[in-house]
Parts: sequence; structure tokens; C-alpha cells
Amino acid sequence: MNWPHLLLLAALPPFVVACGRAGLSDANMLTLGTLLSLAWLMWAERRWPARPDWTPGRSELLRDGAFLGLNAATDALGGLLVAALALHLRALWPATAAPMAGVAPWFAWPLAVALGELGPYALHRWAHADGWGWRVHALHHAPERVNASNNIATHPINVLWNQLSRVLPWLLLGFDAHVIAWAALFIQVQSFAVHANIAGALGPLNRLIGTAELHRWHHSIHPAEALNYGTAIPLWDQLLGTWRSPGSTGPARVGVAGVPGGAAWRVWRALLLAPFCARCNRAQRSTPRRA
Ligand SMILES: [Zn+2]
Repeated sequence: MNWPHLLLLAALPPFVVACGRAGLSDANMLTLGTLLSLAWLMWAERRWPARPDWTPGRSELLRDGAFLGLNAATDALGGLLVAALALHLRALWPATAAPMAGVAPWFAWPLAVALGELGPYALHRWAHADGWGWRVHALHHAPERVNASNNIATHPINVLWNQLSRVLPWLLLGFDAHVIAWAALFIQVQSFAVHANIAGALGPLNRLIGTAELHRWHHSIHPAEALNYGTAIPLWDQLLGTWRSPGSTGPARVGVAGVPGGAAWRVWRALLLAPFCARCNRAQRSTPRRA
């Protein structure tokens, strides 16, 4: 049983209540919750690793730390852009704005989570189709180990398109700011938990929530095995036929064929530049293409 994952999810409601009582803003609650969750999962990975050889080394932690800084800045910039875009669109179509305003939080929260997964699910599936999207997304698949910290190793463009496709519908539909923050916290925490290299299975919960058992298959080096595009919940995978049962074993290998997934700067620089740079694109194209 992957009890560190379950314990983390069980701790989220009291954490949100405690933050509210302490007067923390939603943004600070989200940041604190994300960092505490990451610390907990990284500790649990070391104590109960699913695969001991997937424990990140010092150079990989430094790489992931650099991505944490880069993508925190990207997230902040993206938040401003999405908010500005939402204001602009609402001004264009004021009569259709905010149908979710005033809806009870117990009903709005699961809707916000499901809706917040739909756009990123669609873009994630598109990104695996080996066009420009894969040149962006390949960076996240490059590591040859799957663990909580390398969840952060994601191209900033990938971060922006996830944010845009998730947060813009929330804002346009008028979800309450607290509901948005709670849904964002759950999705963020889940994105780390499904990458965490923690031993244990979650059985029937694989139908309800995103789990490491499901997501490890998504990182398989073999494109045919790399289904399960959803992160926080497997709803859209099950509805749209891309859910892969975790089974008793995970993938034999993870990563991208032909791309060394260690921490060498030249590899990560090429992956970061791949969406923009013709020379780097050639390097990218030299890797086997995914189906
Ligand atoms: Zn992917």
C-alpha cells in the first residue's frame, strides 16, 4: 500500500483549514502546500523506494532545483498572462461570464478538478503525437528515472500551456477563488505524488485518482505503453480510451530512446532550445520518433 500518498491526500483538507485560520492567502497556501508535499514525498521515496535505482543523485537534484526556479518564474508570469486574458475575454462577452459563480464549494470543487484536467489532458495527448508539441514535451520524459523531484523538469512552454488550458476556463466560468486554489493545490500535489518513487499499490483507487503505478507507464520508453495522460485523476483517460491498467509490474525502462537522461547541461540545453532552434531541432529529430 502506498500509504505516504494516501496520508498526503488525507492531510490536505486539515491543511487548507489551518491555513485559512492562520490568515494565509490562497497563493501562500498553494506555495507552502506544494513545498511541504514535495519534501514529504522526497523523504518517503528515500525511506520506501519502489525502485532503489531511481533515487536521484546530487547532480539530478541540482538540475531539478534549477527547473524549480525557472518554472516558478514561468508560473508567476503565466498567472499574470492568464488573468489579463480572462479579463479581456470577459469584457468581450460579459453576458456569458461566470456561470459557476456562487455554486456551493462541495459541488464546484470536483467540477473544477475534472475541468482543470481536461485541457492539459488534451494538450498532453497532442504533445505525444510527435510534432512541435513533442519537441516541447520530450524534455519531461528525458530522465531515465521517475521520482518526485523530476516532475519539475518540464519545459516552460509546457508549464504555460498547462496553466493556460487549466486556469483560463476556471476564471471564465467564474469559479470561486478559494475553490480554484483548492483544486490547484490538489492537482499540484497529485502531479508530484504520481511521479514519486514510493513502493506500494493503490488497487481500486487507480480508477479514481492519479497514482504512481499508472503514471510510471506513461514514462515508458516504448510509446505504445506510454498511455495514462491524466495526472491528478484518470477520468479523461477512462472516458477517452487511454487508461492503461497498472498491472503487477511497471515499465521495464523509462525515458526517451536515444536521449541521455542524466544531468549533463548540454543535453538539457538542447532540450530547452529544441522548440526554437533549427540546429537543436535536428538533434531532437535524430532521436527515434514516438508513435
Ligand atoms: Zn507525457
